[in-house]
Amino acid sequence: MLRSLLLITGTAAAFSLTVGELAPLHAQEAAATSSSARVDEPLHFTYLGAAGWRISDGNVVVLIDPWPSRLKYGGGGHPDDDRPDFARTDLAWSDTTLIDSVIDEADFILVHHGHFDHLGDVPYIARKTGAKVIGTETTVMILRAYGIPDDQLYAVGGGEDYQFDGFSVRVVPGIHSALGEKHYHDSRRYDRTTQLEAPLRIEQFIEGGSLSFLARFDRHEVLTMGSMNFIEREFEGLEPDILLAGINGSRLGLYDFDRRLLESTGFPPIVIPTHWDNFRLPYDFSQQPNIERNLIPFIETVGTLSPGTTVITPIHLEPFTVR
Ligand SMILES: [Zn+2]
Repeated sequence: MLRSLLLITGTAAAFSLTVGELAPLHAQEAAATSSSARVDEPLHFTYLGAAGWRISDGNVVVLIDPWPSRLKYGGGGHPDDDRPDFARTDLAWSDTTLIDSVIDEADFILVHHGHFDHLGDVPYIARKTGAKVIGTETTVMILRAYGIPDDQLYAVGGGEDYQFDGFSVRVVPGIHSALGEKHYHDSRRYDRTTQLEAPLRIEQFIEGGSLSFLARFDRHEVLTMGSMNFIEREFEGLEPDILLAGINGSRLGLYDFDRRLLESTGFPPIVIPTHWDNFRLPYDFSQQPNIERNLIPFIETVGTLSPGTTVITPIHLEPFTVR
């Protein structure tokens, strides 16, 4: 399929180890993948921090778990960060000025699960952009509580494969990161009988089950992760050419995570680490500890396990493209 047609441009690869040869997109194949009404552009990526992304092929703008607010909540902040502290019992709040400076438009928002660092800004962004939101029933119930109209909302459970105008997405069942030294487990769900009144408290943004997405653009198929976990049999056979790999520290408590992830996804030509940062810090704070703890060992492991893979290390808000 598209696996040999990759070329990366932009500033995001500053920390990456590049391995393998990349060939430019062949003109004939480029023509074959575009229809007359559609533009044929590289895939544009911007990392929004945590598990958040803006991805566009020039035809559709897809946001994934967009959370620019990066509130200091539930501990884990930085002493030099003089923004207010939020407890989990506090009302959720979005930094709309910051969001407006980062996000202009969106056609789709894919939400991996309902936790605050994934869904917290989606009520505002969905209202602002009118984007269609795809997520669990729990996610949809939270957005309904915020008054997002039903025709923007798609509740999914995993297994759906939806064709939209110029974009298709397969919903992949997932599991959440093994937080709390593997003691985390939350089976709560919201459904149509749940009474929710916005604004919610931060703690009311419950997981509600976890998903991955195979987002299909003209030139590329991107498999997304919102957690440091996955179900191997659900990834097998998808063969994305770009993998957004969740690589924060909790993955180290899982059996042979990096190898199983690369193997089950068919050793993707491009792997982009996601959810690796300290998401309670503002954008302009150093992420050096997380770079050293999460990124560098992962890049080295990928270089050993999958020498044909290029790892792109994203920098907050710095766009890059994959041809
Ligand atoms: Zn979560």
